[in-house]
Amino acid sequence: MFSKILIANRGEIACRVIKTARKMGIATVAVYSDADARALHVQMADEAVNIGAPQAAQSYLVSTKIIDACKATGAEAVHPGYGFLSENSAFAKDLEDAGIAFIGPNVRAIEVMGDKIASKKFAEKAHVNTVPGDLTVIADAAHALEVSEKIGFPVMIKASAGGGGKGMRVAHGAHEVAEGFAAAVSEAKASFGDDRIFIEKFIEQPRHIEIQVLADSHGNTIYLGERECSIQRRNQKVIEEAPSPFLDEETRRAMGEQSVALAKAVDYRSAGTVEFIVDKDRNFYFLEMNTRLQVEHPVTELITGIDLVEQMIKVAAGEKLDHEQSDVKLNGWAIESRIYAEDPYREFLPSTGRLIRYQPPEETTKDDITVRNDTGVYEGGEISVYYDPMIAKLCTHAPNRKQAIAAMGEALNRFIIDGIEDNIPFLASLMRHPRWLKGDISTGFIAEEYPDGFGRNELPDDIVRILMVAAASIDQTLNMRKRKISGQMSGEKVTFSSKRVVVIEDKEQPIGIKYDGDRLMRVIFETAGEHQEMGVNSSWAPGQALWQAQINGSPVVVQVRPIVNGHRLTYQGAEVEAYVYTRREAELAALMPVKVAPDTSKLLLCPMPGQVVSIDVKEGDSVKAGDKLCIVEAMKMENILRAERDCIVENIKCAAGDTLGVDEIMMTFE
Ligand code: ADP
Ligand code: ADP
Ligand code: MG
Repeated sequence: MFSKILIANRGEIACRVIKTARKMGIATVAVYSDADARALHVQMADEAVNIGAPQAAQSYLVSTKIIDACKATGAEAVHPGYGFLSENSAFAKDLEDAGIAFIGPNVRAIEVMGDKIASKKFAEKAHVNTVPGDLTVIADAAHALEVSEKIGFPVMIKASAGGGGKGMRVAHGAHEVAEGFAAAVSEAKASFGDDRIFIEKFIEQPRHIEIQVLADSHGNTIYLGERECSIQRRNQKVIEEAPSPFLDEETRRAMGEQSVALAKAVDYRSAGTVEFIVDKDRNFYFLEMNTRLQVEHPVTELITGIDLVEQMIKVAAGEKLDHEQSDVKLNGWAIESRIYAEDPYREFLPSTGRLIRYQPPEETTKDDITVRNDTGVYEGGEISVYYDPMIAKLCTHAPNRKQAIAAMGEALNRFIIDGIEDNIPFLASLMRHPRWLKGDISTGFIAEEYPDGFGRNELPDDIVRILMVAAASIDQTLNMRKRKISGQMSGEKVTFSSKRVVVIEDKEQPIGIKYDGDRLMRVIFETAGEHQEMGVNSSWAPGQALWQAQINGSPVVVQVRPIVNGHRLTYQGAEVEAYVYTRREAELAALMPVKVAPDTSKLLLCPMPGQVVSIDVKEGDSVKAGDKLCIVEAMKMENILRAERDCIVENIKCAAGDTLGVDEIMMTFE
């Protein structure tokens, strides 16, 4: 076994690999760019080596710097994590030449599987079902049309070198082929330096289901069941689960056996994932093989009890797998939510800055429920513009799907992040979406259910009620404390009733409150013909960020942040401002002038810190709502900024290459 390994990555995955290495008694070396000098993975590793400038192309992606760091520290092996150099066959080859072990597959497997055309040819030979299509490289738009018509619409136009959802376009009919082909070519050229394109059938209403495989160099290859990753936004996974609610035992076995056959055909060793697209009749088709540890691997670990990183390290050291196919038992249900530094209310634009508060839910196993949080950040740390916006992967495991979802909902409710925007409200609202709860999902789920993005409006009545009860209870606790301080009451056992008005967003609700000491309070809603009493029992104390209570006997957790005259409350994806008034105060509050936000409708403001990639209009141009104005890049993502309404471009205040801060004025309109 190795005595020291180097992790050629950053963030949560570097931290996750260090944990397992430590458990195995292996010393760890971190590498870091100038932007990551204080990052969590650097703090956790036994040693750390600086490898240069923040831009990945000058640090994390430079093979020679990683190899020099191995030599300088005496690391015998490298774990590449995912992304960066993990699927770079030249890097694996360089390591081999330097006599350093690569904790991953052999060079040829990476080469073959890294190319979608080559891997599909290989899969066909191994008798794996592939998406119907044509594997010839498309020469031009006319050729693309000819091949598309032969396959039959809709088709997917795809870059052979593609990855991360890039270089892919759907064409529903002949009229979309030329544009889709041109877009796939230019994206592929820019992202991968390789513009070979092929075309396959677009599978409608599909589900993304993938099989985890593990292999050693002694001829053992096994599969560890599936993960379903159909909840995607723009072909990028957001929520994953294992097992899939859609598969039966027979389909699972067929997919598992085909995946093992494919892995054997390339002499695969280490952990790998075979991705399939599955249609509504449970026909499954090979998409690609990822020759590395996958982002969503924790859900498989939770249902199999197998530490995938441990097996990868053992295999790289020449040992045999610890498990045979017959040992693999799927136990319970696991869900992963990817927590991103992005603003769900502003089209998921990336968000950067300092994590003023970062308090994830506790990692525990209690009453058959496990909460796991793989993270690479810490309170006080900085989220920079240079890397991926993923900051944590929150997982829950429970005996069944319903319980795992409920546990995820509660864990998200408890997850506190301040200082940057995050997608937790979106994830939390997904957890109560009826289609998700039923498991009735496809890769189009988010686009279909949130066609206009994610908004703050339309809160279900039961959620508003819970927030009103929380607001009333919080207000009551604060009042009690004031009375105690002023000496009006002993604060011991008190009994009283009073009337209040709770204001949440535009809803104003008169309530009655009965209090009979010992923290038990009743909130009475009395509106036309309705009388509802809710019993609340909370031990919340002023200053605490989580209001935890029993409402009518059920546990509820609400996040509380003080604002002027009230509180901001967060619960199950709802974020509201809540005020509690006496009846007289409510009458007066209604008369207060409403603060009007400054008019920014004639300005284009930069939505996040980033770099201008291109300006796509000229001064004097008339643009229509939805037209592309410019592109800003941040956190590896190109963000297209579009016109919100029909207008004329008056003044352009920035140019391609400029680095801008948030809310800097980019253009003005007439
Ligand atoms: P998974 O299937 O594990 O979710 P993804 O395809 O989403 O994998 O990619 C995993 C990681 O690798 C992400 O951080 C993604 O940004 C990065 N990545 C994937 N493909 C590429 C690529 N071709 N170039 C750069 N980064 C990539
Ligand atoms: P990447 O290498 O970028 O991960 P994939 O081939 O794995 O590319 O595709 C990413 C996602 O795009 C899939 O999870 C699926 O949602 C969608 N997709 C890819 N090919 C097809 C297809 N032929 N039909 C329908 N959806 C597809
Ligand atoms: Mg993929």
